[in-house]
This record gives sequence, structure tokens and C-alpha cells, in this order.
Amino acid sequence: NNEPYDAIVLGAGAAGLFCAALAGQRGRRVLLIDHAPEVGRKILISGGGRCNFTNIHTAPERYLSANPHFAKSALSRYTPRDFLALVERYDIAWHEKTLGQLFCDGSARQVVAMLLEECEQGGVTIALGHPASAIDHADGRFTVQAGPVRAHAPALVMATGGPSIPKLGATGFAYDLARRFGLKVVEPRPALVPLTLAGEDLLFRELSGVSAEVVAHCHKAAFREAALFTHRGLSGPAILQISSYWKRGDTVAIDFLPDHAAGWLLERKRTHPRATLRRVLGDALPERLASVLADRIGLAGELGASTDKALHAASERLARWPFVPNGSEGFAKAEVTSGGISTAELSSKTMEAKKVPGLYAIGEAVDVTGWLGGYNFQWAWASAHAAAQAI
Ligand code: FAD
Repeated sequence: NNEPYDAIVLGAGAAGLFCAALAGQRGRRVLLIDHAPEVGRKILISGGGRCNFTNIHTAPERYLSANPHFAKSALSRYTPRDFLALVERYDIAWHEKTLGQLFCDGSARQVVAMLLEECEQGGVTIALGHPASAIDHADGRFTVQAGPVRAHAPALVMATGGPSIPKLGATGFAYDLARRFGLKVVEPRPALVPLTLAGEDLLFRELSGVSAEVVAHCHKAAFREAALFTHRGLSGPAILQISSYWKRGDTVAIDFLPDHAAGWLLERKRTHPRATLRRVLGDALPERLASVLADRIGLAGELGASTDKALHAASERLARWPFVPNGSEGFAKAEVTSGGISTAELSSKTMEAKKVPGLYAIGEAVDVTGWLGGYNFQWAWASAHAAAQAI
């Protein structure tokens, strides 16, 4: 009790565990606090239990932030190769699934065990099961009370993540704490989240369970991956990706036939004049989807009987099918939170608050949000590494 530490890290998730371990291994005395009874809960459920721990195509352009340049420094100083080297040092078998996404062959538990072992090697003290309650800052040092533990240190690291999936113990604690220290917070929003449909689009609910490879567009962003119809709206990787760019009122345009050139329907009219739209769509898309799209376009007869103008309009609509989601499934279902502690308040080299020396923010709590596919963990590792070098 009342132990002196060099740093107190709040939140034993991906970023907090890694930061504590690295700082500890640099000889710093570190206390790591989490209100959950176990560390790394989101790591354990990540990637369907196999943890998509990084992405080899990590690049600053694959992150959203009010300042798109902010993440560059940390990402360049701790790369996917660096984390992979650590994973290999622990003999954790891994594979690339798709699009540069690296997963454990076995279980996400291996990643948590590795991080705990790294903490052990750094002599990190871990205090679980109590929220950090009283946090004081006076005379250049931070004092934290967490259950029976009272500690002080000249450095405090905010690594409590964002409020996505509250049932796992996620909170907006980092934002409240940052505001208390006078730091601005960019509006937190659910990201990598299914979108919900209303009105006419509810007709698509009958397709619940059907998926197709599409290109989803919103503003300038476009993702070619699977989209899935659900009983509430749209999901699947293409939709989760585009949701991070979507704001209320925006249209999400879906290209249902990304491999078809603009004039393909006119071409089919020439080569297959007796075919119906439903049939030619059925060659490229799941039957139920082809049927609903053909019904909604309203071209029931043979292609040969349709005007070129109508076919041209149909192919344009299929290439940019507009959906106007009425919302998302919210923080309860969001894989991450976009927004967060403003990067304008932090040094991109050290993650230290410019106006509060000794205060750091890392991981998802910061306004840096990655694409789906291992990018968010890579940010957690890289920002943790940047702070750990500075503490
Ligand atoms: P977290 O890992 O969320 O850790 C924050 C910690 O702070 C938690 O342990 C929490 O208990 C603790 N905490 C919160 N409030 C308090 C408080 N008041 N006092 C004390 N402690 C507190 N990303 C990928 O890159 N690849 C994936 O495969 C992947 N899969 C995911 C699957 C799901 C279902 C979800 C929800 C997310 C997934 N993510 C994935 C995103 C990734 O898990 C997060 O971006 C990442 O965990 C963020 O790390 P962090 O350390 O900043 O926050």
C-alpha cells in the first residue's frame, strides 16, 4: 500500500498490458490496474477466439482520426513484423487468413498468456477487480486508489479503451478522466458495427442470412468484402468497414456486381434475349438476392423486350444500390469506438498529454480507429510501445 511506482497503467487490455510489460522491462516499476477480474477480455473474444493480432498491410491510411497523420510515428516505430517476432518467440503458431490478417492457429489465450509473461518479466504488479476510484494529481505525481491498493507515480497511462461492448466491462472512463485533466475528446461513436434499415429497405429483411461479395461505398471509402443481410439490416465485413465512415443521413451505396462492366446487361440482351433479369442476376448472385433485386427493379419480362435505356438504368442501380441506414446496432455490438481522446492533445511520439506532463493515453481510448482485420490491435501495440519508451 502507498507503494511508489514509476508508472501506473489504467486498463489491462491489449494496450495496457503491452505498455506495462515494455516499461517494466526498461526497469520502470509499474502498477497495472483493471476493474475486471481477468486481464485482456477483448483479446480473448477477438477474431472469433483466435485473435487477429495484427495486419501485415498496416499503414496510416487504414486508420480514421481527426488528424490522419497522428498515427504515423508510432506505427512506423513498432510494426506488424515486430509484433510477429514476439509471437514467434513464444512459439505461437499463426496463419494469414485473408487480406493480410494474421490469426493464432490455436487460441487468443496464447496472446494473453504471452502478454502476462512479458509483464512478469518486467516485474509488473497487477491489481485486478477494483476500478480506479480516486485519482489525484498534485506536486507532479498521480495518486490512484483501486480497492485496497493506493499508489502514486509520476506517470499515469490511460489505457481503458472505449465503451464498445459494455457487457465485457468496457467503459468511457478514459474520456471522463481526460476531460477532468482538461483534454478534449472527439465525439465517440460506435464503429465496425452492423447498420440498421427502415422504411422500404425493410423488405430486404426477408434476405436475412444471405451474403454476397460486394463493394460498399460511403463518401470516398470503398470496401470489397462480404455483405450480409440480417433481420435488422446489413452486416458482414464490407458493412462493418463502411460503418466507420458512415454518419446518420449518409447513403451507403452497394455494388452488387463488382466484376461486371457497365454495359453487361445490354450485352446479355444481345446474347440471351429470352432470359429474364432475375435469371441473369442468379448467375452471379445468391438466388434469393437475385430475386429480390429483380423484383425491386421491376423488369419482369425477357431482356429482349426491355429498352436499352431501362437496362442501362438497371445496371447503374445494381452498381450503386442506395441504402440509407436509420442507425447502427450501437455500442452493444460495435467492435470498436471511433473518436476518443483528441490527438491534438497528445505528442504523436510519446502519447503524452502536451499540457499534463506524465499523463499518457494509448490504445482505443485515443481518437485513432483502425479498419477491421487486426489494425486495432496493431495500434494498441504501437501506441503502447511509444508510451513505454517515454515513461
Ligand atoms: P481494451 O482491450 O478494451 O482494454 C481496456 C481495459 O480497460 C479492459 O480490460 C477494461 O476492463 C479496462 N477498464 C475499462 N474501464 C475501466 C475502469 N474504469 N477502471 C479500470 N479498468 C477499466 N481488433 C483487432 O485488431 N483484431 C481482432 O480480431 C479484433 N476482434 C475484436 C472482436 C470483438 C468482439 C471486439 C469487441 C473487438 C475486437 N477488436 C479486434 C478490437 C480490439 O479488441 C480493441 O481495439 C483493443 O482491445 C483495444 O485495446 P485497448 O487496450 O485500448 O482496450
